[in-house]
Amino acid sequence: MNPPGPYFESAGLTPGLYIVATPIGNLGDLSPRAAATLARAAVIAAEDTRVTAKLLHHLGVRVPMLAYHDHSDDSVRRGLIARALVEPVALTSDAGTPLISDPGFKLVRDARAAGVNIVTLPGPCAAIAALTLSGLPTDRFLFAGFLPAKAGARTTAIAELASIRATLVLYESGPRLAASLAALAAGMGNREAAVAREISKRFEECVTGTLSDLAARYAEAAPRGEIVITIAPPGEAPPPDAETLDEALRTALSRTSLKSAVAEVSSALGLPRSDVYARALELKADAGA
Ligand code: SAM
Repeated sequence: MNPPGPYFESAGLTPGLYIVATPIGNLGDLSPRAAATLARAAVIAAEDTRVTAKLLHHLGVRVPMLAYHDHSDDSVRRGLIARALVEPVALTSDAGTPLISDPGFKLVRDARAAGVNIVTLPGPCAAIAALTLSGLPTDRFLFAGFLPAKAGARTTAIAELASIRATLVLYESGPRLAASLAALAAGMGNREAAVAREISKRFEECVTGTLSDLAARYAEAAPRGEIVITIAPPGEAPPPDAETLDEALRTALSRTSLKSAVAEVSSALGLPRSDVYARALELKADAGA
Protein backbone atom coordinates (compact mmCIF):
# COMPACT_ATOMS: atom_id res chain seq x y z
CA MET A 1 0.00 0.00 0.00
CA ASN A 2 1.19 3.57 -0.73
CA PRO A 3 2.27 5.77 2.18
CA PRO A 4 -0.96 7.16 3.59
CA GLY A 5 -0.04 10.84 3.21
CA PRO A 6 0.22 13.88 5.44
CA TYR A 7 -3.09 13.46 7.25
CA PHE A 8 -1.82 10.30 8.94
CA GLU A 9 1.01 12.31 10.48
CA SER A 10 -1.31 15.02 11.76
CA ALA A 11 -1.90 15.31 15.49
CA GLY A 12 -5.25 14.44 17.04
CA LEU A 13 -8.45 15.72 15.49
CA THR A 14 -10.23 18.74 16.89
CA PRO A 15 -13.69 18.08 18.37
CA GLY A 16 -16.53 17.97 15.84
CA LEU A 17 -18.71 15.82 13.64
CA TYR A 18 -16.74 14.32 10.73
CA ILE A 19 -18.88 13.10 7.82
CA VAL A 20 -16.76 10.38 6.22
CA ALA A 21 -17.51 9.07 2.72
CA THR A 22 -16.49 5.42 2.32
CA PRO A 23 -16.04 3.21 -0.80
CA ILE A 24 -19.06 2.02 -2.83
CA GLY A 25 -17.13 -1.06 -3.94
CA ASN A 26 -13.40 -0.69 -4.34
CA LEU A 27 -11.64 -0.28 -0.98
CA GLY A 28 -8.85 1.60 -2.75
CA ASP A 29 -11.29 4.50 -3.06
CA LEU A 30 -11.10 5.25 0.68
CA SER A 31 -9.10 8.47 0.89
CA PRO A 32 -6.06 8.68 3.20
CA ARG A 33 -7.79 11.53 5.02
CA ALA A 34 -10.93 9.41 5.54
CA ALA A 35 -8.78 6.54 6.86
CA ALA A 36 -6.91 8.84 9.24
CA THR A 37 -10.13 10.42 10.50
CA LEU A 38 -11.74 7.06 11.20
CA ALA A 39 -8.60 5.87 12.99
CA ARG A 40 -8.46 8.98 15.20
CA ALA A 41 -12.18 9.41 15.98
CA ALA A 42 -13.23 8.97 19.60
CA VAL A 43 -16.35 7.18 18.36
CA ILE A 44 -17.87 6.31 14.98
CA ALA A 45 -21.62 6.68 14.49
CA ALA A 46 -22.23 3.96 11.88
CA GLU A 47 -25.36 3.04 9.91
CA ASP A 48 -24.46 -0.61 10.52
CA THR A 49 -21.57 -1.26 12.90
CA ARG A 50 -20.90 -4.67 11.31
CA VAL A 51 -20.28 -3.07 7.91
CA THR A 52 -18.04 -0.30 9.27
CA ALA A 53 -16.22 -2.93 11.39
CA LYS A 54 -15.06 -4.59 8.14
CA LEU A 55 -13.62 -1.28 6.94
CA LEU A 56 -11.84 -0.76 10.28
CA HIS A 57 -10.48 -4.30 10.06
CA HIS A 58 -9.12 -3.49 6.58
CA LEU A 59 -7.41 -0.41 8.10
CA GLY A 60 -6.12 -2.44 11.05
CA VAL A 61 -7.63 -0.13 13.67
CA ARG A 62 -10.11 -0.50 16.52
CA VAL A 63 -12.42 2.39 17.31
CA PRO A 64 -15.57 2.35 19.46
CA MET A 65 -18.78 2.44 17.39
CA LEU A 66 -22.44 3.25 17.92
CA ALA A 67 -25.30 2.36 15.57
CA TYR A 68 -26.96 5.50 14.23
CA HIS A 69 -30.03 6.04 11.95
CA ASP A 70 -32.19 9.09 11.47
CA HIS A 71 -34.93 7.09 13.19
CA SER A 72 -32.64 6.31 16.16
CA ASP A 73 -33.98 7.48 19.48
CA ASP A 74 -33.54 11.25 20.07
CA SER A 75 -31.35 10.45 23.06
CA VAL A 76 -28.79 8.71 20.78
CA ARG A 77 -28.60 11.83 18.60
CA ARG A 78 -28.34 14.13 21.62
CA GLY A 79 -25.58 11.94 23.06
CA LEU A 80 -23.58 12.07 19.82
CA ILE A 81 -23.95 15.86 19.65
CA ALA A 82 -22.80 16.25 23.26
CA ARG A 83 -19.74 14.17 22.46
CA ALA A 84 -19.01 16.02 19.19
CA LEU A 85 -18.76 19.27 21.18
CA VAL A 86 -15.78 17.90 23.11
CA GLU A 87 -14.24 15.14 20.96
CA PRO A 88 -14.11 13.97 17.31
CA VAL A 89 -17.14 11.92 16.27
CA ALA A 90 -17.13 10.30 12.80
CA LEU A 91 -20.28 9.47 10.84
CA THR A 92 -20.30 6.64 8.29
CA SER A 93 -22.95 4.84 6.26
CA ASP A 94 -22.64 1.36 4.79
CA ALA A 95 -21.19 2.70 1.53
CA GLY A 96 -20.68 6.04 -0.14
CA THR A 97 -21.49 9.46 1.20
CA PRO A 98 -23.56 9.62 4.42
CA LEU A 99 -26.84 11.60 4.09
CA ILE A 100 -27.24 10.74 0.38
CA SER A 101 -30.16 8.26 0.60
CA ASP A 102 -28.49 7.32 3.89
CA PRO A 103 -28.73 8.39 7.55
CA GLY A 104 -27.25 11.64 8.84
CA PHE A 105 -29.48 14.55 7.86
CA LYS A 106 -31.10 14.96 11.30
CA LEU A 107 -27.77 14.54 13.06
CA VAL A 108 -26.09 17.25 10.97
CA ARG A 109 -29.11 19.56 11.29
CA ASP A 110 -29.21 19.26 15.07
CA ALA A 111 -25.42 19.32 15.47
CA ARG A 112 -25.26 22.53 13.46
CA ALA A 113 -27.96 24.08 15.64
CA ALA A 114 -25.95 23.06 18.73
CA GLY A 115 -22.81 24.79 17.45
CA VAL A 116 -20.83 21.61 16.66
CA ASN A 117 -17.86 21.99 14.31
CA ILE A 118 -18.96 20.07 11.19
CA VAL A 119 -16.41 18.72 8.73
CA THR A 120 -17.17 16.75 5.58
CA LEU A 121 -14.69 14.41 3.92
CA PRO A 122 -15.83 14.19 0.28
CA GLY A 123 -15.54 10.85 -1.45
CA PRO A 124 -17.42 8.12 -3.31
CA CYS A 125 -21.07 8.69 -4.17
CA ALA A 126 -22.90 6.33 -6.55
CA ALA A 127 -25.10 9.11 -7.96
CA ILE A 128 -22.15 11.24 -9.07
CA ALA A 129 -20.13 8.23 -10.26
CA ALA A 130 -23.07 7.05 -12.43
CA LEU A 131 -23.61 10.51 -13.86
CA THR A 132 -19.98 10.66 -14.97
CA LEU A 133 -20.28 7.24 -16.67
CA SER A 134 -23.59 7.90 -18.45
CA GLY A 135 -22.53 10.22 -21.27
CA LEU A 136 -25.62 12.33 -20.49
CA PRO A 137 -25.46 16.10 -19.86
CA THR A 138 -23.90 16.94 -16.50
CA ASP A 139 -24.40 20.72 -16.45
CA ARG A 140 -27.78 20.37 -14.76
CA PHE A 141 -28.95 17.25 -12.95
CA LEU A 142 -31.48 16.25 -10.34
CA PHE A 143 -30.86 13.44 -7.88
CA ALA A 144 -34.22 11.96 -6.88
CA GLY A 145 -33.15 9.00 -4.70
CA PHE A 146 -35.31 5.84 -4.94
CA LEU A 147 -38.67 5.86 -6.73
CA PRO A 148 -41.56 4.74 -4.49
CA ALA A 149 -42.07 0.95 -4.48
CA LYS A 150 -45.86 1.04 -4.99
CA ALA A 151 -47.04 1.48 -8.59
CA GLY A 152 -49.46 4.38 -7.92
CA ALA A 153 -47.00 6.46 -5.93
CA ARG A 154 -44.30 5.66 -8.50
CA THR A 155 -46.49 6.94 -11.37
CA THR A 156 -47.14 10.17 -9.46
CA ALA A 157 -43.43 10.63 -8.70
CA ILE A 158 -42.51 10.02 -12.36
CA ALA A 159 -45.14 12.56 -13.50
CA GLU A 160 -43.56 15.14 -11.18
CA LEU A 161 -40.09 14.46 -12.55
CA ALA A 162 -41.08 14.25 -16.23
CA SER A 163 -41.00 17.95 -17.05
CA ILE A 164 -37.79 18.81 -15.18
CA ARG A 165 -35.22 20.09 -17.62
CA ALA A 166 -32.24 18.25 -16.18
CA THR A 167 -30.57 14.85 -16.33
CA LEU A 168 -32.30 12.70 -13.70
CA VAL A 169 -30.40 10.36 -11.38
CA LEU A 170 -32.23 7.56 -9.53
CA TYR A 171 -31.15 4.75 -7.25
CA GLU A 172 -32.67 1.34 -7.96
CA SER A 173 -32.43 -2.34 -7.06
CA GLY A 174 -32.07 -5.28 -9.48
CA PRO A 175 -35.48 -6.90 -8.88
CA ARG A 176 -37.34 -3.59 -9.42
CA LEU A 177 -35.26 -2.33 -12.35
CA ALA A 178 -37.35 -3.55 -15.32
CA ALA A 179 -40.67 -2.37 -13.83
CA SER A 180 -39.20 1.02 -12.99
CA LEU A 181 -37.73 1.45 -16.49
CA ALA A 182 -41.09 0.52 -18.08
CA ALA A 183 -42.93 2.99 -15.83
CA LEU A 184 -40.34 5.68 -16.65
CA ALA A 185 -40.77 5.06 -20.41
CA ALA A 186 -44.57 5.26 -20.05
CA GLY A 187 -44.44 8.46 -17.99
CA MET A 188 -41.59 10.32 -19.67
CA GLY A 189 -41.51 9.14 -23.26
CA ASN A 190 -38.72 7.14 -24.78
CA ARG A 191 -35.70 9.15 -23.62
CA GLU A 192 -32.06 8.14 -23.71
CA ALA A 193 -30.89 6.66 -20.43
CA ALA A 194 -28.12 4.65 -18.79
CA VAL A 195 -28.09 1.85 -16.25
CA ALA A 196 -24.86 1.82 -14.22
CA ARG A 197 -24.32 -1.31 -12.17
CA GLU A 198 -21.74 -2.42 -9.61
CA ILE A 199 -19.66 0.74 -10.02
CA SER A 200 -16.03 0.27 -8.95
CA LYS A 201 -16.60 -3.48 -8.44
CA ARG A 202 -15.48 -6.47 -10.50
CA PHE A 203 -18.60 -6.66 -12.70
CA GLU A 204 -19.05 -2.93 -13.25
CA GLU A 205 -21.04 -2.06 -16.37
CA CYS A 206 -22.87 0.91 -17.84
CA VAL A 207 -25.52 0.06 -20.44
CA THR A 208 -27.02 2.88 -22.50
CA GLY A 209 -30.13 3.02 -24.69
CA THR A 210 -33.69 4.31 -24.67
CA LEU A 211 -35.84 3.69 -21.59
CA SER A 212 -37.93 1.13 -23.55
CA ASP A 213 -34.87 -0.73 -24.86
CA LEU A 214 -33.43 -0.90 -21.37
CA ALA A 215 -36.78 -2.03 -19.89
CA ALA A 216 -36.95 -4.86 -22.48
CA ARG A 217 -33.33 -5.85 -21.87
CA TYR A 218 -33.71 -6.14 -18.09
CA ALA A 219 -37.21 -7.71 -18.23
CA GLU A 220 -35.55 -10.90 -19.49
CA ALA A 221 -33.49 -11.32 -16.33
CA ALA A 222 -33.29 -9.09 -13.25
CA PRO A 223 -29.67 -8.01 -12.88
CA ARG A 224 -27.71 -8.55 -9.69
CA GLY A 225 -26.04 -5.86 -7.66
CA GLU A 226 -26.45 -2.16 -7.05
CA ILE A 227 -27.84 0.12 -9.72
CA VAL A 228 -28.16 3.78 -10.70
CA ILE A 229 -30.45 4.93 -13.54
CA THR A 230 -29.66 8.19 -15.33
CA ILE A 231 -32.17 9.72 -17.78
CA ALA A 232 -31.63 12.43 -20.38
CA PRO A 233 -33.54 15.71 -19.96
CA PRO A 234 -36.74 16.10 -21.99
CA GLY A 235 -36.05 17.12 -25.58
CA GLU A 236 -37.71 19.91 -27.48
CA ALA A 237 -40.36 17.44 -28.64
CA PRO A 238 -43.33 18.65 -30.70
CA PRO A 239 -46.49 18.97 -28.61
CA PRO A 240 -48.32 15.64 -28.24
CA ASP A 241 -51.23 15.03 -30.61
CA ALA A 242 -54.87 15.00 -29.47
CA GLU A 243 -55.00 11.20 -29.45
CA THR A 244 -52.00 10.94 -27.10
CA LEU A 245 -53.55 13.48 -24.76
CA ASP A 246 -56.92 11.69 -24.73
CA GLU A 247 -55.33 8.32 -24.10
CA ALA A 248 -53.16 9.65 -21.26
CA LEU A 249 -56.17 11.38 -19.71
CA ARG A 250 -58.45 8.33 -19.98
CA THR A 251 -55.80 6.14 -18.33
CA ALA A 252 -55.22 8.64 -15.52
CA LEU A 253 -58.95 9.28 -14.98
CA SER A 254 -59.59 5.56 -14.68
CA ARG A 255 -57.47 5.39 -11.54
CA THR A 256 -57.40 8.82 -9.93
CA SER A 257 -59.36 12.03 -9.37
CA LEU A 258 -59.89 14.68 -12.05
CA LYS A 259 -57.49 17.06 -10.28
CA SER A 260 -54.69 14.50 -9.96
CA ALA A 261 -55.22 13.23 -13.50
CA VAL A 262 -54.89 16.75 -14.89
CA ALA A 263 -51.78 17.45 -12.81
CA GLU A 264 -50.14 14.16 -13.86
CA VAL A 265 -50.92 14.44 -17.55
CA SER A 266 -50.02 18.11 -17.93
CA SER A 267 -46.72 17.45 -16.21
CA ALA A 268 -45.95 14.27 -18.19
CA LEU A 269 -46.83 15.77 -21.59
CA GLY A 270 -45.60 19.29 -20.87
CA LEU A 271 -48.99 20.87 -21.69
CA PRO A 272 -50.67 23.84 -19.92
CA ARG A 273 -52.83 22.65 -17.05
CA SER A 274 -55.82 24.76 -18.21
CA ASP A 275 -55.86 23.05 -21.64
CA VAL A 276 -55.61 19.60 -20.10
CA TYR A 277 -58.34 20.45 -17.58
CA ALA A 278 -60.70 21.62 -20.34
CA ARG A 279 -60.14 18.42 -22.33
CA ALA A 280 -60.57 16.26 -19.20
CA LEU A 281 -63.98 17.87 -18.58
CA GLU A 282 -65.01 17.14 -22.18
CA LEU A 283 -63.95 13.50 -21.87
CA LYS A 284 -65.84 13.11 -18.58
CA ALA A 285 -68.94 14.67 -20.14
CA ASP A 286 -68.68 12.34 -23.19
CA ALA A 287 -68.27 9.34 -20.91
CA GLY A 288 -71.33 10.34 -18.89
CA ALA A 289 -73.48 10.99 -22.00
N1 SAM B 1 -24.93 7.00 0.25
C1 SAM B 1 -24.71 6.16 -0.89
C2 SAM B 1 -23.95 6.93 -1.97
O1 SAM B 1 -23.34 7.94 -1.65
O2 SAM B 1 -23.93 6.50 -3.11
C3 SAM B 1 -26.00 5.57 -1.42
C4 SAM B 1 -26.73 4.75 -0.42
S1 SAM B 1 -28.21 4.08 -1.01
C5 SAM B 1 -28.87 3.35 0.44
C6 SAM B 1 -27.70 2.63 -1.86
C7 SAM B 1 -27.97 2.73 -3.36
O3 SAM B 1 -26.90 3.41 -4.00
C8 SAM B 1 -28.02 1.37 -4.05
O4 SAM B 1 -29.32 0.79 -3.94
C9 SAM B 1 -27.70 1.74 -5.47
O5 SAM B 1 -28.83 2.30 -6.11
C10 SAM B 1 -26.66 2.85 -5.26
N2 SAM B 1 -25.30 2.27 -5.24
C11 SAM B 1 -24.49 2.11 -4.17
N3 SAM B 1 -23.33 1.55 -4.54
C12 SAM B 1 -23.39 1.36 -5.87
C13 SAM B 1 -22.50 0.83 -6.84
N4 SAM B 1 -21.30 0.35 -6.50
N5 SAM B 1 -22.90 0.78 -8.13
C14 SAM B 1 -24.11 1.25 -8.49
N6 SAM B 1 -25.00 1.76 -7.62
C15 SAM B 1 -24.64 1.83 -6.33
